Amino acid sequence: MAEKAGESGGRIKPDVLVVGAGIAGMQAALEVADAEHHVYLVEKSPTVGGRMLQLDKTFPTLDCASCIGTPKMSQVGSNRFINLMTYSEVDEISGHVGDFKVKIRKKARFVDEHKCTGCGVCQEKCPWRADSEWNLGLGKRKAIYTPFAQAVPNIPVIDKNVCAFLQTGKCRACEKFCPAGAIDFNQTDTIVEVEVGAIIVTTGFDLLDPTPMIQYGYGKFENVFTSLEVERLISSTGPTEGHVVLKDGSTPKGVAIIHCVGSRDENYHEYCSRVCCMYGLKHAHLIKEKTGADVYQMYIDMRCFGKGYEEFYKRISEEDVHFIRGKVAQVTDIAITDEEKDRLVVVCEDTLLGTLIRVPVDMVVLSIAMEPRTDADQIAKIFGLKQDKDGFFEEEHYKLDPMSTGTEGIFLAGCCQGPKDIPDTVAQAIGAAAKALALVARGEIGTRAEAEAVAVGGN
Ligand SMILES: Cc1cc2nc3c(=O)[nH]c(=O)nc-3n(C[C@H](O)[C@H](O)[C@H](O)COP(=O)(O)OP(=O)(O)OC[C@H]3O[C@@H](n4cnc5c(N)ncnc54)[C@H](O)[C@@H]3O)c2cc1C
Repeated sequence: MAEKAGESGGRIKPDVLVVGAGIAGMQAALEVADAEHHVYLVEKSPTVGGRMLQLDKTFPTLDCASCIGTPKMSQVGSNRFINLMTYSEVDEISGHVGDFKVKIRKKARFVDEHKCTGCGVCQEKCPWRADSEWNLGLGKRKAIYTPFAQAVPNIPVIDKNVCAFLQTGKCRACEKFCPAGAIDFNQTDTIVEVEVGAIIVTTGFDLLDPTPMIQYGYGKFENVFTSLEVERLISSTGPTEGHVVLKDGSTPKGVAIIHCVGSRDENYHEYCSRVCCMYGLKHAHLIKEKTGADVYQMYIDMRCFGKGYEEFYKRISEEDVHFIRGKVAQVTDIAITDEEKDRLVVVCEDTLLGTLIRVPVDMVVLSIAMEPRTDADQIAKIFGLKQDKDGFFEEEHYKLDPMSTGTEGIFLAGCCQGPKDIPDTVAQAIGAAAKALALVARGEIGTRAEAEAVAVGGN
């Protein structure tokens, strides 16, 4: 955890650390690099990109997420001012504003980054498979893998829990076939120590697991999906190559999209996740386009607050999508009419009609809440951050200083601070980068007394 600034002041380290390389982290790193300050961009997973790269198209413009995201990925991969450290995590920080000492753990990839050419032969030859995290378990990957084709860097990692050689001492197929001799089973985690003047935390969000909400039947009925799973089904790079299909491979004729699953719900999260109404509309449009199914939106009320959002709502309303205002009571497979036989039935109170209705469909999509990451407490401890009552990292002042934190020199951007869409994430990332640059560009930190005089006197 960071200490308070020293009494005597001193030189400010010119480099900046950005933690997390989703859209927030990539944007912040590029802004700092544009000002010719060096950035250490630390990403936990084997590739940059974050959740945005798992999306298909993005509301309200429906431009494809990878078309706008992959250029940023390659820019952070090739920018000479960015030292990209994927498959890495911050273990410890010490020091204070202007002079943080950071220990970064580079996890063993078991692949020599300098020798690997990214040819992919190792992945072809590897006989061992596991669920793909990238496709949320809807598809498989190998024991040696890159999460997806456009991953940056294009260097695979070996999953030591799945690799037969690392588990039993037998196999080495990847090593045998690698033309570059890049497989290195002797690799171990290494600790890299860096010194930076400012830190930007952009560790993003997790999604609520709806399994305990038994009324929705997730995990019980195979054709109940989460919203992010549906993004992967819709995506041409996903496990079904963009075909929205049921588990038996057939095309759904009716699809229900249930809003506010775990958001605006006192039993789970009181807050609104801010993006679900909009991505629910997006899913309605894309599912209809791909399947021609009847699509139903079960919503509490529609929250379409951003630029172009209300217009998007109007556009989808005119696309023959059924809007049912009401809270869903249950998803069941118990049929009481012929039409419901062998289908899922969404039982819902229609609050406009004031009656309980039953809607037979083949697929249910749960618009699940955005949550703080499961390890948010641990990250808060390492960086000395406060968390709000919901567990997101707390900003210094919600309205007037939403990028600063209670620890001087440490800034926030993106969904680690609270649920938000891509435009707000990018805006906050640019703001956080500006804050970090304003600090490191000063070159010298005065004594605490001087700093306080500047802060109070404003000159
Ligand atoms: C189903 C769904 C559909 C959506 N559709 C849209 C849409 O159409 N339009 C729109 O505007 N918004 C949409 N959004 C919202 C959008 O996904 C977010 O606004 C955006 O992804 C937030 O980016 P982020 O960088 O803050 O977080 P993330 O994308 O979560 O990125 C965080 C990164 O930090 C890394 N990380 C985490 N912990 C650590 C650590 N300790 N050390 C190092 N790295 C770490 C993660 O691996 C990840 O790469 C959608 C969201 C969902 C759930």
